[in-house]
Amino acid sequence: MCKLKAFIYNYLENIKKKVHLLIPAAGSGSRMKAGKNKLLITLEGKSILYWTLNSIASSKQIGWIGIIGQPHDKNQIMKSISEYSSRVTWINGGQTRQESVFNGLKKLPENATKVLIHDGARCLIKPELINRCAKEIKHNEAIIAAVRVTDTIKIANNSGFISRTPERESLWAAQTPQGFTVSKLKEAHQMAVQNNWNVTDDASLFERLNWPVKIVEGELTNIKITSPIDLKIASLLLSNN
Ligand code: C5P
Repeated sequence: MCKLKAFIYNYLENIKKKVHLLIPAAGSGSRMKAGKNKLLITLEGKSILYWTLNSIASSKQIGWIGIIGQPHDKNQIMKSISEYSSRVTWINGGQTRQESVFNGLKKLPENATKVLIHDGARCLIKPELINRCAKEIKHNEAIIAAVRVTDTIKIANNSGFISRTPERESLWAAQTPQGFTVSKLKEAHQMAVQNNWNVTDDASLFERLNWPVKIVEGELTNIKITSPIDLKIASLLLSNN
């Protein structure tokens, strides 16, 4: 009975607890060809990173926010998000997204048990999706926001010829936030370093280890700003809001 009480107590405490969130923002934005970190590009008068943070900061589920950036971008980034500077902790990024996230994990406060990772480049994220992901990670070891794929996807060989067409029903496009139990994600990143795994999102590390990752239905508007066309789409959606 005592064990059951302790379990219920811990379960309820976990639900009340706010989640930690890391924002990888240390990319160079080479595909954008802007000559600077794409997250500093201005949309509707504010930087891309400002809009990302604006949504995150309005989520009641998030208690602590870390921004992972390149040291040479620090002044400009902090200036562009000055409204929220008292709420964020700065963390130096690495050469790859994977390295940046690992740096972020090492700098989480000791009491962090669950963490969401959200790419700075997904500036159209709605607080409602952040809240849903934060609630889901409280009951799971790993979650990922994702949307169903509507295009028919082809797998091609190196010569540019189609080799096969996977069944569309089982295809999902990965987004962020992705959420994890902190100790598990740290373990997965350590394994990645030891085994020389290079991945573009954190859920991939769990997949390699055969650890389950639960899908949370994402949003079609939660796009990652990558190419100039995405800037036009994001401007339009931000101005409509
Ligand atoms: O390049 P891509 O848009 O896929 O990067 C996804 C996110 O990872 C971006 O928000 C980017 O700033 C971040 N990133 C990072 N450190 C790197 C490379 C990318 O934090 N070295």
